[in-house]
Amino acid sequence: MEILNIKNLSKNYGTVQALKQVSFSVPAGTVFGILGPNGSGKTTLLGIVMDVLKPTSGTYEIFGQSPTADQRKQIGTLLETPNFYHYLNAVENLKISAAIKGRGVDDIDRVLEVVDLAKRKNSKFSTYSLGMKQRLAIGAALLGNPDVLVFDEPTNGLDPVGIAEIRELIKKLSKEGKTIIMASHLLDEVEKVCTHVAILKQGTLITYGDVNEILINEDVVETSAADLEQLYQLLQRMPGKLSINRKDQVVQVNFSSGTADLAAVNRFCFDAGITITHLQLKKKSLETKFLELTH
Ligand code: ATP
Repeated sequence: MEILNIKNLSKNYGTVQALKQVSFSVPAGTVFGILGPNGSGKTTLLGIVMDVLKPTSGTYEIFGQSPTADQRKQIGTLLETPNFYHYLNAVENLKISAAIKGRGVDDIDRVLEVVDLAKRKNSKFSTYSLGMKQRLAIGAALLGNPDVLVFDEPTNGLDPVGIAEIRELIKKLSKEGKTIIMASHLLDEVEKVCTHVAILKQGTLITYGDVNEILINEDVVETSAADLEQLYQLLQRMPGKLSINRKDQVVQVNFSSGTADLAAVNRFCFDAGITITHLQLKKKSLETKFLELTH
């Protein structure tokens, strides 16, 4: 089943095109990352899906149907940091959240356990670390136990410990069967927590799908020979390669991560009568891949 199905969604703010004909779908049970640099349209996209913003054109379906307010109530959201009261404790703050969301207060103890704040539930919000504050915000999104969660940059502004806690919490929620849609500008984060990704660049969808397919790590073998063209032609027939390209004075042959074999490349060329003058293994980092995709 698909949780969310977006078709040709566009959004203009005056002359700024924040989203341009974006289409993708989110399968149930995934942790779906919307990845892109600042200003790429992530918040705009989530805002439209949660009905905070109207699209300029395009449509989307939630749970396979035109969205209704009732369906959105089945989605827990964290779009911006909620305004908790500093002088109230976690339970009192969640009671207010529950009232605003029209959800029962009977779920508060369960939620505090899930976000690991049960022990501190009677402490004032003002005494919480930033990470605890963010966990309480996620707790508010979990009230009523929705199957689908939408988080906008859930680790933004946290220290490394706070970031790790939120990422663990997201993984835990995913194991419980929740579908999580989250915006992030961090490739590393998407790689660590997400099963699927959609990459946005200046409002345009660059690509989307399974993280392991899209962010696949590659080994790059750099080679050179006196006759570069001849080398390039030969390496087109190199078994096991993913792709090949010419760059200045070298030919680059790409293999799946961990499969490049320099000796095999050398032998392949030697057997064909080409002497290699340069042979080097380089890793293509995910960062490089992300930069290639977004720049
Ligand atoms: P960030 O991570 O910085 O929040 P984002 O990927 O979520 O970025 P959006 O906030 O959706 O991106 O912004 C997309 C584009 O739309 C940006 O160019 C932004 O300046 C513009 N934009 C967003 N909101 C408005 C608005 N209310 N009025 C005018 N332009 C806007």
